[in-house]
Amino acid sequence: MTKCELCKEEIKTNFLDKLDGTMIKTGEGETSKKHYVCSSCQKEHKDNLAKKLELST
Ligand SMILES: [Zn+2]
Repeated sequence: MTKCELCKEEIKTNFLDKLDGTMIKTGEGETSKKHYVCSSCQKEHKDNLAKKLELST
């Protein structure tokens, strides 16, 4: 199960097992991190998504 890092809700998957959301990478090289975000948070934060995630970790 994958949880949205912003709202902590479960991110559902569709029939192709694709997440109803997005994966964002922050940082570079060895310090880079993957973050999963649901589609509603993705819409809400758009361009600020990466910044928002960096602050929350
Ligand atoms: Zn969310």
